[in-house]
Amino acid sequence: MTSFITEISAPDGHKVTVNTGLFINNEFVTGASTIDTINPATGKVITSVQAAEKEQVDLAVEAAHKAFYGGWKTTNPRERARLMRKLTDLVKRDAEDLVHLESLDMGKPLETSRAVDPSAFIDWFQYYAGFCDKLHGKVIETEGKLSYTVHEPIGVVSGIIPWNGPMIMLAWKIAPAICTGNTVVIKTSELTPLSALKISELIKEAGFPPGVINIITGYGSKAGEALSRHMKVSKIAFTGSLATGRAIMKAAAETNLKKVTLELGGKSPNIIFDDVENLDEVVFWSHLGIYFNAGQACCAGARIYVQEGIYDQFLEKFKALTLSKKVGDPFSAEIFQGPQISETQFNRIMNYIAIGKKEGATCYLGGERVGDQGYFIEPTIFTDVTEEMTIMKEEIFGPVVAIAKFKDVDDVIAKANNTEYGLGAGVFTSNITRAVKVSNALEAGTVWVNHYYSQTPAEPFGGYKQSGIGRECGEYALSNYTQVKAIKINTGNPF
Ligand code: NAD
Repeated sequence: MTSFITEISAPDGHKVTVNTGLFINNEFVTGASTIDTINPATGKVITSVQAAEKEQVDLAVEAAHKAFYGGWKTTNPRERARLMRKLTDLVKRDAEDLVHLESLDMGKPLETSRAVDPSAFIDWFQYYAGFCDKLHGKVIETEGKLSYTVHEPIGVVSGIIPWNGPMIMLAWKIAPAICTGNTVVIKTSELTPLSALKISELIKEAGFPPGVINIITGYGSKAGEALSRHMKVSKIAFTGSLATGRAIMKAAAETNLKKVTLELGGKSPNIIFDDVENLDEVVFWSHLGIYFNAGQACCAGARIYVQEGIYDQFLEKFKALTLSKKVGDPFSAEIFQGPQISETQFNRIMNYIAIGKKEGATCYLGGERVGDQGYFIEPTIFTDVTEEMTIMKEEIFGPVVAIAKFKDVDDVIAKANNTEYGLGAGVFTSNITRAVKVSNALEAGTVWVNHYYSQTPAEPFGGYKQSGIGRECGEYALSNYTQVKAIKINTGNPF
């Protein structure tokens, strides 16, 4: 069998071996072609990985189908939990390898990756491992019949994930699916396959039976499309852009009506009232809310609305904090912001900055490229924005924020909800009545009050309006991965 083991060296000298094959049936196998994965900090190729097309998708789905009917759906729930926990032990053991791959492949600063990624993966797996033996139905009183429900797995689930949080997205898709007894085929983003490949090795080492978890990479138009149209994929859990979400729903509708959950984009409002007690704290959260992950976050607080009385003061402090944060090589110390993921994304963001200027907004800070290699962009602040401007409406997915003024509660609620999206929102106020009133009125799946961005495995996450369908995380996610059967037993009545 061909070996795809490759040694990768990070700029700090850390070396990691990765198996770059497609992980199908617990083996690393050949793809239809290869994809070069690029270091966004330099624009240079890190390595190339095997890429799936229809034939390999068929193999992966067949493996998952066989594993589902071959026993995983009826595996003792405690055994499922044991395997999930074993995987978290291995992720903890190999955390340094994983964070190096994540930082190299997607440009996340090493320190951020260290602080966030392995621990999030572990938290999500441990949370859902706890649910394996807690999937209860109900007993329903009926007329002369004993009626009860069971929650059964759906079958082969496909998770299609983006590049902006490869390890975390992997955990969000795999953990709830397998704890409920489904088997999975995950397609990673073609831009960031490496950490998932390393985790594939750990899945095998943990002892998961072949076919329960399959991980492939490939282009969306080939591998993604083949999964969306596959007659043996019973459910797709997708995270990515609106356009791809629509294509997946259409493919599901045209084939086997597979169940679809979508986590899509956002243009989240972050609202700051003039009664806040500590403006420095508000500035800290608002800055994190837009610039974390170089602005490449679906729920980034990209529209900041500040009440008139404190607008100037907020802007001054926000600018000062922004200027104090370093942009640069993810492997250098004290870097807050790394590069954008790709040349395409870089150009897309620079184009939005040009549109903002052309439509009359003031580019108050930034707006330029940083350095002469890789895809770095200055943290950018637009002011003098109006609701009609493109940069107030469309998701930029980069380090670009628009800061606007508002008068009162009614004014800001109307502005905040003036969007096709509805993923996240922030509210900063020291008035509890106002906090509740505004939170209730906001059309968003998550509202953060007096902070931004925190997320644990226990809380549901998802979108209102065109930000998505269904909820991930928490107990809510389990309903996406199970189907309910009502069983009715005649307890003696002749009719
Ligand atoms: P994308 O839609 O381009 O790609 C996402 C995934 O879909 C990739 O794996 C890609 O290969 C695949 N894909 C592309 N075309 C496909 C097709 N026709 N059929 C099936 N699969 C296909 O998105 P992206 O650029 O990778 O990610 C950025 C987007 O993701 C942003 O809009 C962001 O807001 C969104 N996002 C949302 C969440 C959330 O939880 N709501 C989280 C992260 C990112």
